[in-house]
This record gives sequence, structure tokens and C-alpha cells, in this order.
Amino acid sequence: MAGEPQPDCLFCKIVAGEIPATVVRKTERTLAFRDIAPKAPTHVLVIPHVHYPNAAALAAAEPEIAGELLAEAGRVAEDEGLADYRLIFNTGAGAGQTVFHAHLHLLGGVSMTERMV
Ligand code: AMP
Ligand code: ZN
Repeated sequence: MAGEPQPDCLFCKIVAGEIPATVVRKTERTLAFRDIAPKAPTHVLVIPHVHYPNAAALAAAEPEIAGELLAEAGRVAEDEGLADYRLIFNTGAGAGQTVFHAHLHLLGGVSMTERMV
């Protein structure tokens, strides 16, 4: 069935609690945790529990959960005291995607007006 956990997926293992992560928010369908190699003072990843290879595949199959990722990102930003932040979905290796389980990057805490990512 679509969305099922994949045995070799790092983020499925984090959802299952098999690999530790610094979790900042958790809901029935989403998980937010700190990026292990932060690119900004606040760098949080928001992921669905279900496995889809990228944001577009998630949105096509389960649009409500795709919307929940955005809502959760807003809540994390609020928790972190951020009014200004950037949300990014890398899609495809050529765009810098390295983990093929849909995830939203929340970056903040530094001026990003002159940064591409
Ligand atoms: P992307 O390059 O868009 O696929 O993003 C994957 C992100 O996952 C990168 O920013 C990595 O630093 C991050 N990452 C990789 N392994 C872990 C981990 N075990 N815990 C938290 N973040 C991780
Ligand atoms: Zn996965």
C-alpha cells in the first residue's frame, strides 16, 4: 500500500523510534525534529509518518497530510520565536535531496534575504 514504511529509509526509522532524533513537535501524522547538520540557527525538518519519496508524491496521494506539514512548520516557527523563516522542499538529487522520504526544511534565526537556500 502507498505510504508504507520502507526498510532502508532513514526517516521511517526516525518515525519508528529506531534512530534517535531531537524531536520538537509530534502529531498523529507528522514529526518535527532538528536537522543533524543545521544550516541556520533554527533548522528543523517536518516529515509525515507515511513514506513518500518527495513532497509532490505526498501531496498527490495524501494532500491533507501535505497541508499538515505546512501548518506544523508554522507552529514550530512560533515555538522558536521566529517571524521570519524559510520553508524548503528539495526534490531530486540534482536539487540537493539526499533523503527520499518527503520532508520540509524550516530555516530561520539568520537573515536569508541574500541566500538561495
Ligand atoms: P535533503 O538534503 O533535502 O534530502 O535533506 C536531508 C536532511 O536530513 C539534511 O539536511 C541532513 O542534514 C538531514 N539529516 C540526515 N540524517 C539525519 C538525522 N539522523 N537526523 C536529523 N537530520 C538528518
Ligand atoms: Zn521513509
